[in-house]
Amino acid sequence: MTRFNGEIGKDAVRGKRKTGMPKQDRRICSNGHRYDKSSDCPVCPVCEKEKSKRSVFGKLSAPARRALEHLGIQGVAELSSYNEREILALHGMGPSSIPKLRILLKEAGMHFRNED
Ligand SMILES: [Zn+2]
Repeated sequence: MTRFNGEIGKDAVRGKRKTGMPKQDRRICSNGHRYDKSSDCPVCPVCEKEKSKRSVFGKLSAPARRALEHLGIQGVAELSSYNEREILALHGMGPSSIPKLRILLKEAGMHFRNED
């Protein structure tokens, strides 16, 4: 009854070592949004939210979306040149994202590249 459920590992990643005082950094992004940079994440939360609404990948979690953006994938056409395994291997991409992507591709009349 005492086995770990995997949450431990997540906390370990989150608890990155912090040096100095936990000061809040007031930032203004390139689009004029003010936000407190209180985490290690350098992106503006307002922009992120708006981007997720605009993006065809808006239904994905933010890390999954960023993983695709990191590869330069901005739409389903680019996505269709990868196979499922390649996408699933991306950092931030979870197994639950794959069915959503599959639907997006299908709606556009496309599909993941076949496994080699
Ligand atoms: Zn912004």
